[in-house]
Parts: sequence; C-alpha cells; structure tokens
Amino acid sequence: MSTRSSYVVAVVGGAVAGSEAVAQLAAAGITCVLIEQNPRPYGKIEDGLPRWHVKLRNQEYGKIDDKLAHPLVHFVPNTKVGRDVELDELIGWGCSAVVLANGAWRDRPLSLQGAEDVVGRGLYYQNPFTYWFNHYDEAGYEGPQCDVADEMIVVGGGLASIDIVKMLQLETVSRALKSKGVDVNVVDLEHAGIPKTLAKHELTFEGLGLKGCTLFYRRNAEDMPLADPPENPTPEQIEKSRTVSAKLLKIAMTKYLFRFQPLRAPSSLIVEDGRLAGVRFAETRVEGRKVEVLDTFHDVRAPFVVSSIGSIPLPIAGLPMKGETYDVEDSVTGKIRGREGLYAVGNAVTGKGNINESYKHARVAATHLLESYLVGDEASRTLPSAGAAEAAEIAKRVAAGPRLTDEKRVEILERVKKLQARAAYEGPYRDYAAKQRA
Ligand SMILES: Cc1cc2nc3c(=O)[nH]c(=O)nc-3n(C[C@H](O)[C@H](O)[C@H](O)COP(=O)(O)OP(=O)(O)OC[C@H]3O[C@@H](n4cnc5c(N)ncnc54)[C@H](O)[C@@H]3O)c2cc1C
Repeated sequence: MSTRSSYVVAVVGGAVAGSEAVAQLAAAGITCVLIEQNPRPYGKIEDGLPRWHVKLRNQEYGKIDDKLAHPLVHFVPNTKVGRDVELDELIGWGCSAVVLANGAWRDRPLSLQGAEDVVGRGLYYQNPFTYWFNHYDEAGYEGPQCDVADEMIVVGGGLASIDIVKMLQLETVSRALKSKGVDVNVVDLEHAGIPKTLAKHELTFEGLGLKGCTLFYRRNAEDMPLADPPENPTPEQIEKSRTVSAKLLKIAMTKYLFRFQPLRAPSSLIVEDGRLAGVRFAETRVEGRKVEVLDTFHDVRAPFVVSSIGSIPLPIAGLPMKGETYDVEDSVTGKIRGREGLYAVGNAVTGKGNINESYKHARVAATHLLESYLVGDEASRTLPSAGAAEAAEIAKRVAAGPRLTDEKRVEILERVKKLQARAAYEGPYRDYAAKQRA
C-alpha cells in the first residue's frame, strides 16, 4: 500500500471502461485522476444505449457511481482532453501512466461522394442521431437536431442499426398516434411493441398511413452479428448463431414493423437542391465473408437516411493512429505503440459496441498495468494469461517503474484541484452524482 500510493494514474473518460480501470487501480491503492468531458460520466450508457433500456441504464449508472466514489479517485468533470487539456500537456504532468478510456465516438464515414455535404440535410450519422433520440425531450436540450419521417432508410447491419430502425419506427408511430389524439410514451411503445399498442387503440399501421422504414444490409440476415457464437466455436455453433441472428431480426421486424433489404450496398447518393433525396444501392453477392458488389442498381428515395456503419475512436492530437484506430502494440494491454506509460482501454480499442467487452477489456488491461507497478515479492506474480517471456518483461518494467516523489504527487494533485475548480466540481463524488441524477 505504502509503495503503491506513490503512483498516480490519469484516466480519460469515465464510463464503463474508465470506471472499471480506476476501480482496479484504486483497489490496489493507486491514486487515480479521472478526467471526463461531460458533467456526467456515463458515456454510451447514457448517450448510446437507447433510452428504453431503463433498468440496464440505471444498473450501469449505479455501478459506475460506486467505482468513482472510491476515496482514491479524483473526479474531474466537464474537461475534454484535446480541448481543455491537450494530451501532451496531460502526459507532461508526469503521472505514472495515462489511460485513454474515451470510447468510439466518431461515426465511420459513409465513403460516398458528397456525403459530408449533406450531413444534417437528409443524412444523419448514428451517434448524434442516438444522442438526439435519448435527450431531445429534456428541458433546455441544446444537442444535435434530427427529424424522422415514414419510409426512412437505414444503412447498416450491426446490432446498433437494429436499434436505429426501432427508434425511427417508435418515433413515427408515436407521432402518428399523437395526430389521432393518442398519447403513447416511446418507452412504453418499445416494451409493448407496435402491433399490440395499435390493436389496443383499435388502429392499424396501414390505417395510420404508414409504410415503415427499411434497413439495408450488404449481406444476408444470417450474417448479422446479432448472436455471437462462443469462443473457438465449432461449425455447428457458428451455424446456430447464424440461425439465431436471422430469427432475432424477424422477431424485431414483427414487433416494430420495419422492413429489411439484404444484399444491397450503397453505391452513390441522390442529391437534389443540396439535400439528400435517396440512395442508389448496388446489388451484392455474398460468398463466405466475401461481398461482391454487382453492376445492378436500384434507386431508393427517402426523406432521411441514417448511416449506422460503425463507430471508431476520435483522433486526439499527439496520439498515433493505425488506420481508423489508435495504434496499440497489443490489443490485450492496450499499450500505445512506442509510448511508455500510455494505454487505451474499452470501446476505444475493442472495436465492439458492447458493455461487457468494454468492461472485460478495461479490467484485463488495468490488471496488466497494475502488474507492471508491483514491487518486491509481488513483481514475481504473473497474470494467469502471461507466459514466461511476458512475466520477465513485466519484472523488467517493474524495476524501472514510474514511481513518483511526494513532491511530484502533490504537484499533480494541485493541477487536478485547479481543473476541478474550473469545472465547478466540489465533491465528494456521491453528492455530486446525486445532484446530477436528481
Ligand atoms: C445505439 C446503441 C445501442 C447499444 N446497445 C447495446 C446493448 O444493447 N448492449 C451492450 O452491451 N452494448 C450496447 N451498446 C454499446 C455500449 O453502450 C458501449 O459499447 C459501451 O457502453 C462503451 O463503453 P466505454 O466505456 O468503452 O466507452 P464510452 O461509453 O463511449 O465512454 C467513453 C467516455 O469517455 C468520455 N470522453 C470521450 N472523449 C473524451 C475526451 N477527449 N476527454 C474526456 N473525456 C472523454 C465520454 O464522454 C465517455 O464518458 C450500444 C451502443 C449504441 C450506440
């Protein structure tokens, strides 16, 4: 404890991954500084996971709060790395390590000519669209503005794209019901499903004049990653998860009345008067994992299009990238290539929009990081997954571990206090979180 208290680790981002990283480190006696860009530290639990997941959201909020309330965690809200503090400046504080748990907030660009010119003019990306859906009816909302209409198009195929089509259907149906004088809450509509709710009011989807939106996917229903097979799956297990994926899609279509068009890849945009009016899709052929784009095209007009083709980490000045992602030496530890003491954890590394994956990655990476700090007898302890070579490497790093002097530690915590004052954060965390959630 006495040796470990001479380490200070800065963690950027406070949600699933960031809170788990600080929980692991603080439990081992290490002081943590958690820098979060928003007033609330819940990340995609609040702004990604659609708001009908009421129970799951509250559970995850509670878990995050419990972790951040640890007395060794110094929380700094309303502070964005790359805007309020540059990454190089943060590294320059001289912390023992910096851990990036900042998630994947950049939508993978729809790489079609002119796409960027029509963003907000007929084209929405998944992340701001979901943020809007989750928050637009809050008092004083100032975030992105989006709209919905019947017969929208969603381009996607992952788990999140099913949520996007659901959001569109729930919004259009609740608006149509409102025009008939029936007030239905979107969360209740999601729980009961559209056909059941309409039947209760002796209405039909067609009777409301609706046709529904369509999800376009370049593969087949069975190829959707809706049901993950277990690790090292047998061919039977793979086949089973393919069948389950198709089944889950069908269940969602029955409950929310959207349409699905497989084997279509967006080929170009239909733009009229500077506004997106539809998408030209090419037919595709799928063989195994390979998708072949064919020369047969279909023009589909739509009032709005939502692109839901994946989220990637936002670049941060001073941070090396490899293609769309941060350049990590090893995806398990999240160590940034060539940068001693700089790590990335969670969605920023996993490429998987999944709470458990972020949690597991942060826990394993923080344990590796922790091992590299341990001194004396503990240095010889290895992780269950570590081989002899890795253990020797850990021991070597431990010998040169970034322990801080008392003076340095005090200096860092003074900087933290200044940032907290700037962010009007007085703590303790529990009181602050209670006020934020009131
Ligand atoms: C539509 C949708 C539906 C989903 N549904 C499910 C589901 O059903 N089940 C499931 O398991 N998962 C689901 N997910 C995914 C899941 O919510 C995320 O994968 C997970 O919560 C990510 O956790 P994280 O901590 O890695 O990242 P994030 O939650 O993104 O956390 C990153 C944190 O870092 C902060 N941050 C970012 N940049 C900076 C910066 N520069 N400076 C300071 N702070 C910063 C952010 O504000 C945020 O608090 C869904 C996601 C979406 C979009």
